[in-house]
Amino acid sequence: MKVHVDDDRCRGHGVCVAVCPDVFTLTDGGYAETLVDDVPPELAAEVPEAVTGCPEHAITLG
Ligand code: SF4
Repeated sequence: MKVHVDDDRCRGHGVCVAVCPDVFTLTDGGYAETLVDDVPPELAAEVPEAVTGCPEHAITLG
């Protein structure tokens, strides 16, 4: 599973980091970035929760 954060949409709320800190982090600029391009199977259950929890709909799966 691929995961991507749209920089133009992200507003740095950090919901994704709270839900799934092994996949998302906040940069020094206060926006989210992914720590992995390919989500490992053991984290695959958490990532959809981050997708639906993102208020800006900035996270997409591929
Ligand atoms: S929850 Fe969405 S808007 Fe907030 S930091 Fe994560 S990707 Fe950005």
